[in-house]
Amino acid sequence: MNGGITRDDLAHMITGAAAAIRAHHARLSALDCVAGDGDHGATMLRVVQSLEKTFASGGLEDLRTCLRDAGWSVLGVDGGASSSLLGTFFGGMADAGPCEAPLSANELAGVFEAGLAAVRKQTKAQPGDKTMMDALVPAIETLRASADAGKSAVEALRDAADAARTGAEATRNLIARYGRAKLLGEKTLGHEDPGAISVSLMFAGFCSGLEESKGESGNARP
Ligand code: ADP
Ligand code: MG
Repeated sequence: MNGGITRDDLAHMITGAAAAIRAHHARLSALDCVAGDGDHGATMLRVVQSLEKTFASGGLEDLRTCLRDAGWSVLGVDGGASSSLLGTFFGGMADAGPCEAPLSANELAGVFEAGLAAVRKQTKAQPGDKTMMDALVPAIETLRASADAGKSAVEALRDAADAARTGAEATRNLIARYGRAKLLGEKTLGHEDPGAISVSLMFAGFCSGLEESKGESGNARP
């Protein structure tokens, strides 16, 4: 890898995630119409816009401050369960031990793990419950495993994006146990969870954004 992850790389990752969400927001709302209130695509557009705004401003701030600001700005989004959980996720990343740019692949995994730990304080949902956790948990576990195996941050993020996509696609065969979709129970079978698809899109975008920033090309697809 060309050095560690800088603040600029992270800004590119956010831009990549925003592009992936913008390209698919209608699908996200359509999925949320099946088992929820149909607002998920609109909420995710506001989430990525607030993330981009945070990373576009405050160029001199350190990574920790930037992630904390990003978390607060997403928490301030007028949205539902997903914006609250994702705000907690990005804000929680700021609590990682080593958080000074440039981040190694291991440190990047630590930053994502800190975000996941914060989310776990807010929801008891586990993989298998048909929520965003079905994408988030395998993505971050894979990121850690690949970083520990000595892969570069780009390679580890590629693996994480693949794991997130597999986890999100598998929600099609699950029954919702959390959130609004829980009310529909078995009627949610046959449809993917919108929040899990959003997380998988974001990881694909993190990956393509980082590849672009580092001048590497890969095969992650939303
Ligand atoms: P709302 O349900 O408040 O309208 P969104 O439509 O934006 O919020 O997001 C719905 C998504 O949020 C779901 O698809 C699911 O992935 C996630 N979600 C909802 N409740 C929970 C929960 N308790 N734990 C984990 N994820 C949840
Ligand atoms: Mg909704």
